Amino acid sequence: MTRTSLKYYGVMLDSARLTERHSFYFDLLPHLAKWGYNAIWWHFTDDQGCSLRFDTRPELASRGSFSKREMKEFISCAGDHGIEVIPELESFGHTGYITKLKQYHHLSEAIEGERFGAICPSNPATLEILADLIREVSELFTSEYIHAGFDEVNFGSCPRCSERLAKEKPWEVFAHHVETVRDIVAGNDKKMMMWGDHMCSEAELTHRIPKDIVICDWQYFDVDTSAVTYLLEEGFDVICCPALINAFKVIHPREQNLQNIKEFAKAAAACESAGVLGIMNTVWCPYRHLQGAVVHGIALGASLLRNAGLEPESFSEEFARDYFGVADADAVGRAMRYLYEVVPELLLVKSLVPLNRDEFEPLVPMEIRECERMGREGARILATLQANRTHVDRNISQYEDSIVTTEIVVGLAQNGEDIKRLFEIATMDDLLKGACREPRAQDLLRALADRTRSLHARASDRWNRTRFEDDPERDGRSHIYQYDASILHRLNEAARFFENLIPCAGT
Ligand SMILES: [Zn+2]
Repeated sequence: MTRTSLKYYGVMLDSARLTERHSFYFDLLPHLAKWGYNAIWWHFTDDQGCSLRFDTRPELASRGSFSKREMKEFISCAGDHGIEVIPELESFGHTGYITKLKQYHHLSEAIEGERFGAICPSNPATLEILADLIREVSELFTSEYIHAGFDEVNFGSCPRCSERLAKEKPWEVFAHHVETVRDIVAGNDKKMMMWGDHMCSEAELTHRIPKDIVICDWQYFDVDTSAVTYLLEEGFDVICCPALINAFKVIHPREQNLQNIKEFAKAAAACESAGVLGIMNTVWCPYRHLQGAVVHGIALGASLLRNAGLEPESFSEEFARDYFGVADADAVGRAMRYLYEVVPELLLVKSLVPLNRDEFEPLVPMEIRECERMGREGARILATLQANRTHVDRNISQYEDSIVTTEIVVGLAQNGEDIKRLFEIATMDDLLKGACREPRAQDLLRALADRTRSLHARASDRWNRTRFEDDPERDGRSHIYQYDASILHRLNEAARFFENLIPCAGT
């Protein structure tokens, strides 16, 4: 039996990377409560942006951000549904929302060749900014907690930090910044949470950090329960954090994500009496998928957090009946549940819809078989979803997003078939030089370009109906994480890539 009764069963919504139209979050609240969530971690700051307009630092706000009045209303509505909103304000790493602005660029600890940077912990200006932000967040949010980030930090490039690092170890500077932020948080009558990745890798840091900080231990692949017990033994309260969508997961969550949620739910249950405070289903970078396509996963995640032994099949049937009101809930539920097993992994996605020539590769036999399976099973899922579309009597927009997501999966499988045939008659060299004059190869390239272009049109239509059309992430303009760019950006670039391979294109 793996049922638990923790304080928090939460979902992390990443409004920093992509802010949905605000009605999306409000509309989600009654459903979240019904599915079993009692907390939202509001991840509203990150390298890409800040989805709240501060009074003291309004320049930080990104496209579509919430005013404080709207945020207050959201927190209050969530409270009416028994949901606590815990703000996450990044205060060391993932602080591009501050340092990318010209006036704060001097605070950046960007290190050449490192994907993640930080804001300078040694500059008094950093602490002034953080003090302003934490004060406003404390006043606005009613939760007793503020999550202060602290994951994936790289620092030490600036003169002030270099000077300190000549005398202190990196973990000492890190710990000092944690203590400073913790004191600012405590000075505003709040308790602090932070991510646990640096602590699990550095024992001295773990010993030094104040024990009243709650550690959010995120593990998105195999779950190492000993990391949780280690933090508990060190005296911390712990939140267990699996992911419904994390790096390398594009288009739709995969089976591995469901396994990750189940495993962490079991680990949390096993450590419940030792001080596990809660469990948080993280949903990262919503631009990777269409808005409605992960609603099933968010719902299923809530049930798995509370009961890791739950059968996703029976849950999905109930979900299809309740959420979409379809008569054949069994078939629709099965289709939605099975999609997790059919969605390709990022490495394969790159080859099927490449952003550029570096990602374009002939498929290996295993990938060809995978495409055949994707095409066959995807077509079956798509047929079921389309056949039941007219019977959907609520949340049709989310249903449409699932249909278009499945169309993309099927289209990618067809791209795989075309790419396989293409490399049977053409060499990579000739293709990239635009020198392949074989008519059948030109037909295949045209088919790849047309199909990818039409998938882009379908996905764009869904995006524009549900999200801000002028969101900078729509077309991947921020270019921070090229490898798992927005779904629209990938389809658009891939269509252009195939078009450019067609000999004489544009001449
Ligand atoms: Zn510095």
